[in-house]
Amino acid sequence: MIVAHLDLDAFFAAVEELEHPELASQPLVVGGDPRGRGVVATANYVARRYGIRSAMSCAEALRRCPHVVVVPPRHRTYSEYSRTVWTAIREVVPTLERTGLDEGYLDVGEVAPDFRRARVVAEAVQAAVRGATSLSCSLGVASCKVVAKVASDRRKPGGITVVPAGREAAFLAPFSVRLLPGVGPRAEDRLGAAGIELVGQLAALSDGELARLLPGKIGRLLRDRARGIDPRPLEEPVDTVSIGHEETFPQDVSDREQLHDELRRMALRVADRLRESGQVARTVTTKLRYPDFSIRSRSTTLPAGLADGERIGALACELLDRALADRPGALRLVGVSVSKIEDFEQLALA
Ligand SMILES: [Mg+2]
Repeated sequence: MIVAHLDLDAFFAAVEELEHPELASQPLVVGGDPRGRGVVATANYVARRYGIRSAMSCAEALRRCPHVVVVPPRHRTYSEYSRTVWTAIREVVPTLERTGLDEGYLDVGEVAPDFRRARVVAEAVQAAVRGATSLSCSLGVASCKVVAKVASDRRKPGGITVVPAGREAAFLAPFSVRLLPGVGPRAEDRLGAAGIELVGQLAALSDGELARLLPGKIGRLLRDRARGIDPRPLEEPVDTVSIGHEETFPQDVSDREQLHDELRRMALRVADRLRESGQVARTVTTKLRYPDFSIRSRSTTLPAGLADGERIGALACELLDRALADRPGALRLVGVSVSKIEDFEQLALA
């Protein structure tokens, strides 16, 4: 597995800066009323230089920086930006697990076979987010979620940290146990009382010491994580309402005939799967990935559903030609998928 954890940089504050460019150079806090009991939701990077942090009271933020600008949160606006961001990310890495408006895990392994190319994909994700919204994000790339999560926080803002396979435990070792996802205040206290402050110390605990400090499953889970072992898969929300095939070529392909052949072959397989489930589809989509990992897709929607592989193939080829007319070049991957899937049997009965 190659997984990236992505985190938008100072998200709420960054959105406010975009919408009010005059605020960008000033210390800015998105949060509650500073005269009441409001807390800082997000501080921009200028405000952080004054020691202002998320979850601090706004009153304390004002003490640290009397000229800090405090603006109330506008959640609907942030949700809209978030939606645009995730749509742009999906264009580069289709399989992902959102864990919040501004963070989530990306299945980078699906599009990059190794860690060197995973970095290129991470850069393509940053470019896509910047292109769609002007927002910046940071990514950590690793062999499992826990390491990716810690890594995404290392080079903020706008950073990428890649931890290649085999380096997980060494990467985590120097950090405070507090930074290890899953270590709550209670576990931190118990470990701290025994002099265990760094992840590397937790990783090195013997079974006996561990059972004494953090008995049961939780202790073993945290020690595994400290060693960079985390079998959690990505949990994608169920919105797989499409059937598709795609293929990454061993070498980039520019020959149009070869690309058409591939698409027609994949279309036949898609049609087989539709027929097996007694379904028809109204939308055909062709996806293209260029050598720089950027993606184009073209779709067409028909008035009636079809499950005919040759027709799906012909449409897919037309869509490819259209996309290549917009942006010519060799391709790293092509794919065909169908969506707006309907039950053939039900249609026939209706
Ligand atoms: Mg964030």
